[in-house]
Amino acid sequence: MAERTPLIAGNWKMHKTGPEAVQAAGELVKLTADAKQVDILIAPAFTSLALVAEILEGSRIMLAGQNMHWEPKGAFTGEVSADMLLAAGCSHVILGHSERRQFFGETDQNINKKLKSALAAGLKSIICIGESETERDEGKTFSVLDKQVQNGLKGLFSEDFGEVILAYEPVWAIGTGKTATSQQAQQVHAYLREQLAKAYGKTVADSIRILYGGSVKPENIAELMAMDDVDGALVGGASLDPQTFSRLVHYQN
Ligand code: PEP
Repeated sequence: MAERTPLIAGNWKMHKTGPEAVQAAGELVKLTADAKQVDILIAPAFTSLALVAEILEGSRIMLAGQNMHWEPKGAFTGEVSADMLLAAGCSHVILGHSERRQFFGETDQNINKKLKSALAAGLKSIICIGESETERDEGKTFSVLDKQVQNGLKGLFSEDFGEVILAYEPVWAIGTGKTATSQQAQQVHAYLREQLAKAYGKTVADSIRILYGGSVKPENIAELMAMDDVDGALVGGASLDPQTFSRLVHYQN
C-alpha cells in the first residue's frame, strides 16, 4: 500500500487581520519546526496570504486559499483566481467547504469547475464533502457522499489525483463540538477509498489522502489519526491558536 504522509491543515476562515495572521504564522513556524513526519498547511483569509507567505518562506508549512473562482480573470467582483492564489504564495486551495455550500450557494458543479481550473493552473485542491445531520439520520450519508464525489470530481483522470486531497467533514460536526467517532470516520473514509478504487483504480485509491474534519482537538486527534484510512485533519476552531494547532501537528508525541 502507498505511504500517505499525514497532513494537518488549519482553516482560519474569516479570522485574523493581516498583522494577527503574521504573528500566528510566525509562532507556528517556530512551534512546528521539528515536526518532520507530517505535512502542515494553513489557510488564512485572502488579505493575509501574501504577508503570511513571506513568514512561511523556508519553513515546511504550506499555504492555501479558502476558495477561488473558476475563471482565470474577468468581471467577477470580490473573487480571486487560481493564478492570484499561486502568485500570493499558495500551493493549495480549499474547495467546497460546507460553509461555502451553505452560505454562498456553492454546488458540486461549481466545485467541479473550480477544481479543473485549479488543476490547470497547477494548484493542489482540498475538496470538502460531508453529510448534514438530517441526511445522516435519514440514512443518506453514503448516497450524499457518492453524489458529491461523482459530481465534484467529474471529468478527472487518474493522473490528476496527485493534486487532489479529499476532506470528509460531516456538517453536523463542524464548529459544533460534536466529533464523529473514530469508527464513524474510518467507516466513511474506507467507503470513499473503495468507491475511488472502483472509479479510478487502486493506485489512486491507495495514494489519495483523505482528511477528517469536524471539531478535531488535541484530545481526539490521536484516536482519529490511528484509523487506517484517516490521513490527516482539516481543522477550523482549534487551528486559530498556534499552541493548540501545534499540539495537533504533534499528535504522535
Ligand atoms: C472546518 O471548518 O473545516 C472545521 C472542521 O471546523 P471545526 O474544526 O471548527 O469543526
